[in-house]
Amino acid sequence: MNRYKVTKTLGDGTYGSVLRAQNNATGEWVAIKKMKQKYYSWEECMKLREINSLRKLIHPNIVKLKEVIRENDDLHMVFEHMAHGDLHEFLIFHSPKSDSSQDSEGESGDSRVLSQAEMAYIAIQVAAGMEYLSSHHYVHRDLAARNTLVGENLTVKISDFGLSRDIYSADYYRVQTKSLLPVRWMPPESILYGKFTTESDVWAFGVVLWEIYSFGLQPYYGYSNSEVIEMIRSRQLLPCPEDCPSRMYAFMVECWHEVPARRPAFPEIHQRLRQWEGLGGSLGGLGSGGQPSYSSHQPSVRLHGRVLA
Ligand code: ADP
Ligand code: MG
Repeated sequence: MNRYKVTKTLGDGTYGSVLRAQNNATGEWVAIKKMKQKYYSWEECMKLREINSLRKLIHPNIVKLKEVIRENDDLHMVFEHMAHGDLHEFLIFHSPKSDSSQDSEGESGDSRVLSQAEMAYIAIQVAAGMEYLSSHHYVHRDLAARNTLVGENLTVKISDFGLSRDIYSADYYRVQTKSLLPVRWMPPESILYGKFTTESDVWAFGVVLWEIYSFGLQPYYGYSNSEVIEMIRSRQLLPCPEDCPSRMYAFMVECWHEVPARRPAFPEIHQRLRQWEGLGGSLGGLGSGGQPSYSSHQPSVRLHGRVLA
C-alpha cells in the first residue's frame, strides 16, 4: 500500500471506503476499495466473487481490477480509476434539471445536458460489457447505473460485482429475512423465487436504459419498496421517460418480458443498439467508430474539463 498515495475518499460502502490514490512510481490514478477486516478475514475475502472473477474479466467496458493487496489482514482491491464517478450521479449532473456546478470530484465542470447520441453511446457500452459478462456465464445480479462508472471521453464500464449495498441503501430492500435486494432492478422471478440469471440481468439492463433516458431518476420513484414489489408482480411496468424515443422504450419493455426466455439476450441487445446507432435516426447519428458525435466533432471531449494523470 505504500506504493500508493491516497488523495481522497470517493465513497463509503458496506465493506469499507473507496479511496482515490496515485501510484508513486507511475503516477497512475487508481481507486482502492478497502475492505474492513471486521467484516472479512483474508480467507473469506478470497471466496468473494468479485475478487475471484473480476481479475479474469478483461474488457474495455468492465472496470479492471489491477491488483489485490493484503496488509495486516486488511484487504485492498486496486481498480482502474474512472474520472467521472458512477453513472447515476453523472446522469443527474448532466440532466436538464441539474443546478449543480460541481461534478462528482467536487470540481466545477461542464454540466451540459446529455444528447440522445450520448445516451445511446452509454447504453451501447453497458450492453457490450454485459455481452462479455454473459458470454463468460457471469451473472452480475446488481446491474444498475450506480454500479456503472464513467471515465474520460464518455467511456462507461461496469463495476461492483455484487459486493456492497450501503451508499444507495434506499435502492435496496430486505425481502423477508434475506439480504438487501435491489428490488427496483429485479424481475418477478428474482423477487418471488430468488432466481438470478442472465435473463434477470437483462431485465436490470432495461431498468438501466430507463435510468439513462430519465437522467438518473429512481425507478418507481414515489413508491415504497413493498409497493414496488406489488407493482412488479402485477406487471405495472415503468412508464416511458420524457423525450425518450418510442423505439428505445419499446426495447426496454422487451427486456421486461414476463417470460425470462423471451427477453432478448445481450449479444442481440448489443447488436440492435449498434444497428440503430448506424442508422442514425431517432437515436441520433453516432459516428461509425462508436464515438458520440460530440467527441468526434468537438475538441473539448472532457465533460468536466479535468485531466487525470
Ligand atoms: P460499494 O461496494 O460501496 O458499492 P462501489 O464500487 O459501488 O462500492 O463504489 C462506491 C462509489 O465509489 C461509487 O459509486 C463511485 O462513486 C466510487 N467509485 C468506485 N469505484 C470507482 C472507480 N474505479 N473510479 C472512480 N470512482 C469509483
Ligand atoms: Mg455499489
